[in-house]
Amino acid sequence: MPKPKVGFYWCASCGGCEEAIVDLAEDLLGVAEAVDIVFWPCAMDFKRAGVEALSDGDLLVTFLNGAIRSAEQEEMAHLLRRKSQLLVAYGACAQLGGIPGLANQFSRDTMMKFYFEDGPSTVNEARIHPRLECVDGGHTVTLPELRHVVRALDQVVPVDYYIPGCPPTPKVTKTAIGALLAGELPPKGTVLAPDTALCDQCPRKASKPTHVSFTAFRRPHLTSLDPELCFLAQGIVCMGPGTRAGCDAVCPDGNMPCSGCFGPTSRVRDQGAKMLSSLAANVDARTDQEIDRILDGLPDPVGTFYRYGLAKSLLRRRADLDLTSASIPGSAAAPPSAPADSPTR
Ligand code: SF4
Ligand code: SF4
Repeated sequence: MPKPKVGFYWCASCGGCEEAIVDLAEDLLGVAEAVDIVFWPCAMDFKRAGVEALSDGDLLVTFLNGAIRSAEQEEMAHLLRRKSQLLVAYGACAQLGGIPGLANQFSRDTMMKFYFEDGPSTVNEARIHPRLECVDGGHTVTLPELRHVVRALDQVVPVDYYIPGCPPTPKVTKTAIGALLAGELPPKGTVLAPDTALCDQCPRKASKPTHVSFTAFRRPHLTSLDPELCFLAQGIVCMGPGTRAGCDAVCPDGNMPCSGCFGPTSRVRDQGAKMLSSLAANVDARTDQEIDRILDGLPDPVGTFYRYGLAKSLLRRRADLDLTSASIPGSAAAPPSAPADSPTR
């Protein structure tokens, strides 16, 4: 009997999710024995044409990591959706937009200008920007267009399951792959990790205060951290109360607060808003000046509360982004018929 075909692919990704697959160590051999890996360009020399040649639904499952930023990534998401019976958003970027989604605070023009002109390590006196098409020595070189916003995978194509984490831990990955290959499938749309808050798994939970009042927020890298006390009791923002369990609290265990990479539980619509509202309600201040002084301890609220989930949050992106401009010289503007908030942009 032929083995089920499986694919792995990355889009706007740092590569950490690909390493997380390799981190399965010898368990990866079991996966390789049970399935036929027919597409994993990060690890082996597979070509897009090979995927295009497959029949629709030929892949039992594709694990796609990384957010969707470019036209090429969008095309690959559609292609792999068509060829796969199951499409799994693997890791925080595919599930929630992840760290690349923080770029949704800036317009594409601003971002390109910073990278190619104004960045502190940029040397580009001629102010050259990448072009969508360039002819050199008789050869035409093309680049995919960057879309105006970063999107999570399910903002582009339907997704069957989600494996959370930045990156997902080997335990979560192994359990999820085992369930998928055994056909023990939960309802579509399930996040394949426990649906409880991280605090439940945290070795510091006994010291979590029932009532906390913040007179200052302290920053982990500027503070001598108590290795056993709940971070909230130390005035350090810890995303544990608003974050899904499943990582075995590796960060609190390593004396770092949770930064929220497993995303929200099913009962939370907006992870950042949930944490913001619970912390803000506990700021112990009487005057505007006191409030300002305390909030100055949070110099990057978006990066703190929406580090992984901005693209999928209620905010989603900066409200005043110009979604019509062409930032790359020679690039085509977005199709004029598409509405400004179209999910395709
Ligand atoms: S989820 Fe984290 S590890 Fe995976 S691609 Fe995104 S940034 Fe990298
Ligand atoms: S340290 Fe963080 S994860 Fe642990 S109990 Fe406190 S708030 Fe929850």
